[in-house]
This record gives sequence, C-alpha cells and structure tokens, in this order.
Amino acid sequence: MKYYSTNGKAPNADLHKAVVKGLAEDKGLYMPEKIKALPQSFFDHIETLSFQEIAYTVADAFFGEDVEADALKKIVYDTLAFDCPVVEIEPTIYSLELFHGPTLAFKDVGARFMARLLQYFISKEKKGRVNVLVATSGDTGSAVANGFLGVEGIHVYVLYPKGKVSKIQESQFTTLGQNITAIEVDGVFDDCQALVKAAFMDQELNAHMRLTSANSINVARFLPQSFYYFNAYARMKERGLADKLVACVPSGNFGNICSALFGKKMGLPISRFIAANNANDIFYKYLCTGKYEPKTSVQTLANAMDVGDPSNFARIYDLYKGSHQDICQDISGATYSDEQIKETMTQCYRDNGYTLDPHGACGYRALKEGLQPGEVGVFLETAHPAKFKEKVDAILHTDITIPERLAAFMKGEKKSIPMTKDFADFKSFLMQE
Ligand SMILES: *Cc1c(COP(=O)(O)O)cnc(C)c1O
Repeated sequence: MKYYSTNGKAPNADLHKAVVKGLAEDKGLYMPEKIKALPQSFFDHIETLSFQEIAYTVADAFFGEDVEADALKKIVYDTLAFDCPVVEIEPTIYSLELFHGPTLAFKDVGARFMARLLQYFISKEKKGRVNVLVATSGDTGSAVANGFLGVEGIHVYVLYPKGKVSKIQESQFTTLGQNITAIEVDGVFDDCQALVKAAFMDQELNAHMRLTSANSINVARFLPQSFYYFNAYARMKERGLADKLVACVPSGNFGNICSALFGKKMGLPISRFIAANNANDIFYKYLCTGKYEPKTSVQTLANAMDVGDPSNFARIYDLYKGSHQDICQDISGATYSDEQIKETMTQCYRDNGYTLDPHGACGYRALKEGLQPGEVGVFLETAHPAKFKEKVDAILHTDITIPERLAAFMKGEKKSIPMTKDFADFKSFLMQE
C-alpha cells in the first residue's frame, strides 16, 4: 500500500517509510491511497468475534499488504493486551471505556501498536538502534514511553518541562528505566519541542544516531484507533442495540474521530458521529460556517483537548474531498465550557453513579443533548478519572481510588536527566549516547 501526503507535494511513501518518518517531506500527513471495504459477511457475524479477532481483520485491511500475517497478528494481539469494554450508563447511553491500558488513556492503543510496527520494520533493516524523541506536556510522554517499554532495538527519550507536569503523569515516564530515558528540561513545553525539532535538523547528530518521532499523526498511531470502534459496534450488536448507533468522540487533535471515519469508509455501520469539543471550538465553528479558522488554544479542564489547530483536520478534509456538506452529513459538533463540564460530571455522578473524567464529560453531554428518538449512543471515555484525581475530587466532592497500576508508577523511583533549554547541551548529551 502506498501513502500520499495531504499536501500533495511529497512523493508517495510505503508503509515502512511512513512509519519511520511520521510526517511527509512537504509537512503533510500521510493517507493510505485506498481504504478497503470489509465484506458484509464480516459485519453479519461480527458480534461472535473477540476484540482481537475483529482488530486483526481491520489491521489486515490497512497493513496486510506490507506486514506478514503472523507478524501482524502478533502485533495486534500484543497491543490489545487489555479490553476496551462498553458499559451501560443510561438506557440509550453507553460508555466505551478506553482507559484499561497501562497509562489509563486511549493513546495506549496507538502507542503500543506503533512501537511494535516500528520494531518490525527496523528489525528488517539491521541498521542498529533507533532513537525516538518525544516532547510532552504530560499524557503523550506516558503513552509513548509505556508503549515502547521493553521493545528491543528502540530507545525513547522523553523531554518534559520541569515542574509543569503533574506528579502522576511524571511518574509514568520517569520511573520506567530500561529503554526509556526521561529528560527534565528547565523550561516550558515549547522549549522541549524546540529541542526535539532542532535535533531532527542537526546533521552531525543524525549521522551519530538514528532519530525518529512518535508523533500522534503517525499512521501507525492513528489508524489502529479504529479497532475499538468496530469492537464497540460488535458489543452493541450483541445487545441488539446497533441499528441506529451514534458514536460521540471528545476531540482535540481529531486523530481519534478520524480513525472512526476511516472505519465508516470500510463499511462500519455506525450511522453518524458527534465531535465534542471543550472551549477550543475550531471544528465546531467549521461545521457551522464552512470556514476553518485556527486560533491559539485556551486552557480548559479537559486539557488533552486544548488544541487550536487540530492536525488531523487535514485528513478529514482530504477524506471527504473538501466537501463541507459531506462532512456535516456524517459529523455534528458540540462545544462546552469548563462550567458545563463540571455541571455534567456532577449530574452524571448524581444520576448514574458514574464518574466521568473531564474529557469523557464532553462526550457524554453531547450525546445526551444530541441523540434523536430511536438512536442509541456510545461516547468514548478517553481517560480514567483518576488521572485527573485532584480536579475530579474537587468537582464531585469524592476521594476516588487510584487504580493499582497507576499507584504502582507512583511508588517507583524517579530517574531523570536534568537539561537546560540550550540545544548545545542537549546535543552534547546525545552525542555521548
Ligand atoms: C489525546 C486525548 C483526547 C483527544 O484525542 P484526539 O485524537 O487528539 O482528538 C481526548 N481525551 C484524552 C484523555 C486524551 O488524552
């Protein structure tokens, strides 16, 4: 399968190149040149299949031409070492819980898949270790570090801003050891990102070591997210509730919902989608007006969705050939203030005894307001509420339990390398690695 760039000015890439490079030379996002429809027979008996079996069928449609069947199956099964269950909240509202992975957020699925696919390709090259550089303001670093933990032939450097990341988040990438090195930068997130960018541009450094990124726009991180939409459909069909199914996705960079739209193109019978935004309402405004106007992001309670120029808009636009009308046919939008998020968390906890995290709260509310008679909805609970324990406890007046696997990180010993924001220091450190 070939991958083309959404900017149309870079040569097509094969999967190997698209995964190792991440971004095309023209800074566009890679798109698979065809999206294979899955046969009706698959959907006719999908409810009899396990999550892993469903995921492998979907993975085969995307990656089967480029990865041997046995290897791909192993990648899928290793990635999905945890479940993504669908849980009833109200008679027509279900939660797709994506927080049962190692770092308790949906990004685990894409990060684990990408780590294994990257390993598959570099083991064929026999060119020695590959080094992943990732700058994080919190969640991406933990998902990537844990996704790559123990994966042979790959070393990960996580750069994070000193004192700007919560203790829980910090513990998820500073206590791992093995092939993960945490670098604590005396600066802000933008300084970390600048160091990573400078490293990719530096010829001497690139001659010394092979560098790659694990950016969320990587096809190996975003496409596998479609797996759990197919599984959610299957589990709802099992309950006899899949005829008019709506999926509602709390969205920031729009990778998650974009993978669902790929699923729909493959025949997944979800009737429509809702993109739930926090106060960063760029996509919501686009749906209303047909104009895409990025702006500086504002900080909200649902901070993983604080994105002012969602990267994957380019993919959605490309997928629908720029037709605003067709996009509106499949997707509607919603936007909520922090006040509304708090109100929704309180209401859902009071009425259903279910604890939403601030991101999931946007999804739950958009379904509750948007479902039409006869429809049943699934919203994505994208992270475990304990990841935002302080905020959640303050809003709900609770003392929620921290799951064991999260608590385990916090017991580990913090190991990090202090670094200035000066590229010369970072470079001389890497030149000795
Ligand atoms: C990353 C993230 C999102 C947003 O997902 P996108 O794919 O960027 O739209 C939503 N919720 C949580 C908890 C996240 O970590």
